[in-house]
Amino acid sequence: MSGKEKVKINKFGGSCLSDATSFAKTLSIMRQFAGTPSVAVLSAFKGVTDQLIELAKLALEDLPAAEAFCARLESFHADIARQMIKDGESLKDALDFISFRFNKLLGAARDVYKGGLPPHLQDYIVSFGERLSTYLFTCFLRSSGVEAEYLSGEAVITTNAEFGNAMPIMDKTQGKIDGSVLPVLRRGAVAVITGYYAETEDHLTTTLGRGGSDFTATIIANVLAERYDPEVLFWKDVDGLLSANPKIEPSARLIEDISYDEAKELAYFGSKVLHPICLRMTMDKGIPVQIRNFNKDLDAAYTRISKARQEVGAIVKSIACVESCEMITLQGAAMVSLPGIAARLFTIMARERINIMFISQASSENNITFVVNQQDGPLAVKALFEDADFGKAWFDISREATSLVAVVGHGMAYKHGVAGKVFTALGDAGANVRAIAQGSSELNISFLVGPKDLKSAIHALHQEFIIAPAP
Ligand code: ASP
Ligand code: MG
Repeated sequence: MSGKEKVKINKFGGSCLSDATSFAKTLSIMRQFAGTPSVAVLSAFKGVTDQLIELAKLALEDLPAAEAFCARLESFHADIARQMIKDGESLKDALDFISFRFNKLLGAARDVYKGGLPPHLQDYIVSFGERLSTYLFTCFLRSSGVEAEYLSGEAVITTNAEFGNAMPIMDKTQGKIDGSVLPVLRRGAVAVITGYYAETEDHLTTTLGRGGSDFTATIIANVLAERYDPEVLFWKDVDGLLSANPKIEPSARLIEDISYDEAKELAYFGSKVLHPICLRMTMDKGIPVQIRNFNKDLDAAYTRISKARQEVGAIVKSIACVESCEMITLQGAAMVSLPGIAARLFTIMARERINIMFISQASSENNITFVVNQQDGPLAVKALFEDADFGKAWFDISREATSLVAVVGHGMAYKHGVAGKVFTALGDAGANVRAIAQGSSELNISFLVGPKDLKSAIHALHQEFIIAPAP
């Protein structure tokens, strides 16, 4: 134990702030930790970020339509404020903030109409969702008798200038947090912080990627760990990490304890519960993370991510999958021992901004198989056909619907025979394995099966490793 004082960092997603019941629930969560220094990080209200992205596009073409759009969004926020904030002074404060912010947003929309939409302006516009939800939440807490202070992303995090997907500059961020968050905590107030956006060293607004409020919470935790003993609680609309997708495998179970490494393999794959970058932030400093279901009782079971890799539980923690993706195979004798083929292939995919989920090449070098999102499949193949080399007759390019399965658990790293069991179970279930990949971390064995074999494959593996694991 560190002997440092604890701090709780509660991250509330958009679905935690939808109506009177959910606001009341956030309050009972915050009250649970009364007496412990506490931070709340907020997302925009549900759907608002998407609407702001739409607004920015609209402003490029049709200013009156953009203005009308802003007006609707303003009344949406004002309605929430009137419903949630009971005390007159706090309500006035919230409504003033809303009208001030919407003036700014209208100004930004006009700038877009006149001068186009450079990336920093896009980020500035989408940051309004968090500015608004967080300020309203601060007023709500105050009107409920909780001492709370609003802190804007710019006051807390400095990033590089990768607009839309910025990364924090940690020493600059440390300086900001020392100056902004620490005094609030020392005063015993809740620091209520906007998620998702920050600023560059030149004070331009940046965003941290979609779903980036989670990242904000873990950046703050990482920095606070210098002085405190932080814990991050993500309030989401799922129970936590599961041993399989329950829609595919009805006997799927909640994983109550999992290591950072395993969670990094699992948390985003298929379920997209938590981006691995968040776990990088907490793992570095050994900060425990909880994934909690906001819609369940406070004493409901949840996933706790904390253990170091060496601490063993079950060999396999989860059978994760992506149901529908596309497997692309580039094949041809011309590839054998020709250097630079893989580089060329993946450069083309990068140019088209296609994300690759799986790669496999046999040592005969006759073909390379890779997997992309279902939507990206046609574009990937088109780009290859149009390439001066790959489009030639001596290459075959094929595309096929596939399902991607990952068996995840760090127990595999030192236990031999796991791969043998995986493929025996699949063979017994009659599932035909199309391609295989295993990272050298041995945390994850991934393979492809035809979509019609997915259910039986998952069921067989879940049975073998989760429900009835051999001792
Ligand atoms: N509001 C942002 C988004 O929708 C960030 C977040 O929700 O975490 O992506
Ligand atoms: Mg979110």
